[in-house]
Amino acid sequence: MKASQLYAPTLRESPAEAELISHKLMFRAGLIRKAAGGLYSYLPLGWRVIKKISQIIREEMDAEGGQEIMMPIVQPSEIWQESGRWQVYGDEMMRMRDRHGREFCLGPTHEEMITSLVRAELRSYKQLPQLIYQIQNKYRDEIRPRFGLMRSREFIMKDLYSFDKDESGLDESYKKMFDAYTRIFTRCGLEFRPVEADSGAIGGSNSHEFTVLAQSGESSIAFCTNCDFAASDEKAELKIIIAPAEDEKPIEKVETPDAHTIELVKNFLQVPIEKTIKAVAFQDDDGKLILAFVRGDHEANEIKILNASGAMHLHMAEESAIVAAGGSPGFMSPIGLKDGTIVVVDQTVMEMHNAVAGANEKNFHFINVNPKRDFKNVIVADIRKVQAGDPCPHCGHELKMTRGIEVGQVFKLGTKYSKAMNATFLDENGKAKFFQMGCYGIGVGRTMAAAIEQNSDEHGIIFPRNIAPFEVVVCPINSKDQAQLEFAEKIYEELKNSGIDALLDDRPERAGVKFKDCDLIGYPMRITISPKSLETNSIEVKIRKSGEISELPRDNYLDQVKKILETL
Ligand code: ATP
Ligand code: MG
Repeated sequence: MKASQLYAPTLRESPAEAELISHKLMFRAGLIRKAAGGLYSYLPLGWRVIKKISQIIREEMDAEGGQEIMMPIVQPSEIWQESGRWQVYGDEMMRMRDRHGREFCLGPTHEEMITSLVRAELRSYKQLPQLIYQIQNKYRDEIRPRFGLMRSREFIMKDLYSFDKDESGLDESYKKMFDAYTRIFTRCGLEFRPVEADSGAIGGSNSHEFTVLAQSGESSIAFCTNCDFAASDEKAELKIIIAPAEDEKPIEKVETPDAHTIELVKNFLQVPIEKTIKAVAFQDDDGKLILAFVRGDHEANEIKILNASGAMHLHMAEESAIVAAGGSPGFMSPIGLKDGTIVVVDQTVMEMHNAVAGANEKNFHFINVNPKRDFKNVIVADIRKVQAGDPCPHCGHELKMTRGIEVGQVFKLGTKYSKAMNATFLDENGKAKFFQMGCYGIGVGRTMAAAIEQNSDEHGIIFPRNIAPFEVVVCPINSKDQAQLEFAEKIYEELKNSGIDALLDDRPERAGVKFKDCDLIGYPMRITISPKSLETNSIEVKIRKSGEISELPRDNYLDQVKKILETL
């Protein structure tokens, strides 16, 4: 490809709304253009990156026996009614009617579609396992599309679905995908970690998120400094912290004027924060009050509270509901609430002694609260968020927190969808059984964005070689100089003939302008052709990542170039 013909408009300025480096750089480097909120066109350079990532994914899926298909983007409502998700999915699903008034949606994911497809076609255990995937546009009407391709409304996803005859088959399929994902993100040049994740609304019992480590990421991850444990902050299961033993003192009510936050109470009563208990109040869909209690210095984890309480959704509680249950906002505890209030207490709270908690009366707290003695009819569970310094649930060493971008997720679905949609096969004994399913997604655009988040500097993108729009750009300093241009063209041809993905920057621009663009777009290697090259019969190689410049003799530069590319 010749840059003079390439549709790659670079810009100095980034869009005002762009917060993330990747969003800014993708726009400035001419990789994408916005069509509307969360909707993007991929320009040639951006599309080349998408195609390279897709190809890596394809190769690794195929290596594990994956078979590529393509399902429709527009999906009939009936299959979603069957699974029960037509109601549950909410506003993220783009719904529409056809001319006959029938309801459809734009696929946000394809569990229903694939299940309805295979249940008519796969009949015997002999046909299993099956690993079926597609790489396709998905639509989610995200409440806040932002960060460019990171959270868009239309995005490209690889989604693979596995069908097995039993749980051990599913374990195997899951392992295959887990390993394939590890290879994919390694080949994409990313620094990532598979983390234990919550299965969320999609259901199922086992899930990992593949998370690219980046400060700009939306996920918060806890990881162990000693073993390979890593989990999202929503999921991380925590060990009970046992407070040092103490003699239990009798409970006492004390006045704490205006001390309606944990900070104020702890200062007023002069107690360490680890001796305080705080409350978070929710209501479920029916308005039923759910109170959760954690240690003063801990954070409540809504997902864990949801699971422990059995509620479908949690909403912040209205003051009136708290009062109706016998509580007083800012002065809550599990002691003395009306019967029937759902109270969930963190397991660590149950191990505290002589602690401070609200007295369910404005301006009053209890001191010397001993939860095991004083709390009645409470659900005890792990309901707090992990934080730095917590002990690792696997080995006990200290956990650290980092931020990351979820680029892929693997789920064991079990029989959730096959049961709901009555998808069965005949086993060895001729008995009908539900398929054991798994689903495995990768955001292709988000992977590209994550790669840029991890690989850029003040001059622009630094693409890892395997996903760069071109591996090498050949740049004559003065394209109007016929001898230089011919020299560059020859080099460009030689590179291409030896299988290197090269671009010739033959634009009649000043060298400075061309170099700036090369740095902005982030080609891993630039080969510069100058008057000196002609004189000494050599080429100049510049590595984008390190800035290193070296001269190579014209005669046997190819092997050297290939060797360097291997390292980029
Ligand atoms: P998130 O929690 O970030 O919304 P998700 O859990 O909803 O993601 P999945 O349903 O697991 O995502 O989808 C699989 C992959 O698709 C994700 O790992 C991510 O890479 C990508 N993805 C999901 N939503 C978006 C989006 N709005 N824009 C771009 N990529 C997305
Ligand atoms: Mg989502």
